[in-house]
Amino acid sequence: MTFTLPKLPYEYFALEPYIDAKTMEIHHSKHHQGYVDKLNAALNRTDLENKPLKEILSNINSFPEDKRTAIINNGGGHANHSLFWELMISNPEGKENKPEGELSEEINKTFGSFEEFKEKFSNIALTRFGSGWAWLIKNHKRKLEITSTPNQDSPIMDGNIPILGLDVWEHAYYLKYQNKRIDYINAFFKVINWKKVEELFKGN
Ligand code: MN
Repeated sequence: MTFTLPKLPYEYFALEPYIDAKTMEIHHSKHHQGYVDKLNAALNRTDLENKPLKEILSNINSFPEDKRTAIINNGGGHANHSLFWELMISNPEGKENKPEGELSEEINKTFGSFEEFKEKFSNIALTRFGSGWAWLIKNHKRKLEITSTPNQDSPIMDGNIPILGLDVWEHAYYLKYQNKRIDYINAFFKVINWKKVEELFKGN
């Protein structure tokens, strides 16, 4: 089995004007494809080849040291991006976009309100130094928590379940937003697919 690049659940232009088509195209067809190719190369002719990605990432320390970094970077990259695409949805008119139902209740319970959640999540995304991700996870106690990881490290590696993630590598926003990461973060909030986040929240 080799890993393959998943098709996007929408067109490259679908997230305009918040995430531009050119960024989406390069991000998906070049960056994500690169993680897939390098992951396959790292796993080639090892006994890990046929394992599901989640299992590989959950047991990262059991793998040969010379392969570990490549597997973390590219396996994490593949897992993170595959999730990221699913977490966004078209919202061309910029309608109000908030979680509903059980997820909304849990966010209010944990963080006080949606606004407080947004502020905390945005701040951790803004202050992640260099490249990495901001996350909303279900932690070991099955409680919501905001966290961030460097590079392509995945929360799965620590036994956590990511239900919302924001890529803050410059490749995710530089063409449109240059150094204005906060504008990109605010734009992301317009296109979060909260139904998908709720599904992940309930399903795990
Ligand atoms: Mn990326």
